[in-house]
Amino acid sequence: MREFDVAVVGAGPAGLFATYELVRHGLKNVIIVDAGRSVEKRYCPLIAAHTSRELGITCAGCRPCNVLYGVGGAGLFSSGAINLHPQVGGDLAVLLKSFSRAEEMIRYLDSILTKFGISEDTLRVPNLELVKEWERRAAKAGAKLIAPAQRRLGTEASIEFTKKLTDYLVSEGVKLVTETVVTDIEPAGGRFKLVTNRGVIEAMRVILSPGRSGAAWFSEISKKLGVQTVPGPLDVGVRLEVPDYVMEPLVSVIDDPKVIMYTKTYDDKVRTFCVNPRGFVVAERYNGYVAVNGMSYKELRSRNTNLALLVTVQLTDPLEDTVEYGRQIAMTATKLGGGRPLIQRLGDLVSGRRSTWSRIDRSSVEPTLKDVTPGDIGMALPYRVVTDVVEAVERLDDMLPGLASPQNLVYAPEIKFYSVRAVVDDWMQTTVEGLFVAGDGAGLSRGINGAAITGILAARGVLKTL
Ligand SMILES: Cc1cc2nc3c(=O)[nH]c(=O)nc-3n(C[C@H](O)[C@H](O)[C@H](O)COP(=O)(O)OP(=O)(O)OC[C@H]3O[C@@H](n4cnc5c(N)ncnc54)[C@H](O)[C@@H]3O)c2cc1C
Repeated sequence: MREFDVAVVGAGPAGLFATYELVRHGLKNVIIVDAGRSVEKRYCPLIAAHTSRELGITCAGCRPCNVLYGVGGAGLFSSGAINLHPQVGGDLAVLLKSFSRAEEMIRYLDSILTKFGISEDTLRVPNLELVKEWERRAAKAGAKLIAPAQRRLGTEASIEFTKKLTDYLVSEGVKLVTETVVTDIEPAGGRFKLVTNRGVIEAMRVILSPGRSGAAWFSEISKKLGVQTVPGPLDVGVRLEVPDYVMEPLVSVIDDPKVIMYTKTYDDKVRTFCVNPRGFVVAERYNGYVAVNGMSYKELRSRNTNLALLVTVQLTDPLEDTVEYGRQIAMTATKLGGGRPLIQRLGDLVSGRRSTWSRIDRSSVEPTLKDVTPGDIGMALPYRVVTDVVEAVERLDDMLPGLASPQNLVYAPEIKFYSVRAVVDDWMQTTVEGLFVAGDGAGLSRGINGAAITGILAARGVLKTL
């Protein structure tokens, strides 16, 4: 049996950038294992569905979980908004214990993007004078605005980039195996045995980067291996869809504005996340439940802008397990939606009334995700979360008139799990020697940038130990 120097589990941004860094330093006896399919096999059905305006990801020929699993990971079909800011996409400055080191890593990440063909015209640097004006308006609404510089790739370029990077890794001798699920890991005399549905892989070092789709598995395997973890927060809320002209004044200045506020009622943190100007709402299917997200394309445009409004929930004794809590919320919402995400007019949510298709049809906003069930999000999400979301929308309406229009659409559940966070050293090595982690699945990041950078750091850590 061939023994590898490094086995990377998960070919999302964390796994791919980790492998790139290993290869760049001459370490090529590397295997990447991913549960999903290759870029080519993932590619066409989703795009075809969108091109034909059959919106929604459950188009013919497209497996529902295609969006999350496979080479490129969850980032592949994203709008490819890569934040070039240490405090967006996970708190890299805290993780690296240095703002300037975090900035340096961001610059390095950006250089890899351009090396693999991402063009200069994807760079968005907000105009500082105009940003200041928006910061003032945010302050008036009792909120804080972060305006990161960003690479806005669009889904097509994101796919192209992933293909180029993957082809390069394979051409350098990296073994890439797809549609292969790692089910177990066994330490074996300073090495690791990875048990998969297709056989056993042996490696000296392991980088685990299974993403959010693999977070529950990561939590289990950590317990088994004795990897020390700490409970993390849960972000739960909704995706709001509004006419594009409501957000246009802000997104014309800042591509993906981050607005953070603390609610008056509960002093809970609510933040906007992943704004998709003229984009589409999409469904994400997980084991046992469905959730929503958003994306936008370079060419294909809708008339709406969507954004997430997320409430940060932290639990303490006796239930610290935010993954379990989040799963329960998502499963309740999925049950109420008959297996589909829920959709509701904002006005119906505020007045505690269920939406129906005839009410949605009367709305001036046409939903971009059709495979949904009109319902009452107030019955699916905790009262506290709904209260926080409604307060946030109403306060943000001062900053962006029209955001709180009763006609706007709300989808649920939008949920981000970061709960089990691995305890790591500066090079992402866990408390188990030789076992490194990176990305969203290990609770270290919340976006493509953070995932990629923690992947690069893990690779550097591996290089130090080999
Ligand atoms: C629709 C959508 C839009 C998004 N938009 C943006 C955006 O614009 N900007 C941004 O910064 N972020 C965005 N994100 C988030 C971003 O995609 C993630 O933060 C990022 O992909 C995390 O990278 P990762 O490598 O940690 O995990 P992932 O990208 O989730 O990759 C993990 C990989 O591991 C594989 N895997 C899991 N378990 C196993 C196992 N047991 N064995 C083998 N393989 C396994 C999965 O198949 C998957 O391919 C979006 C996410 C979605 C779903």
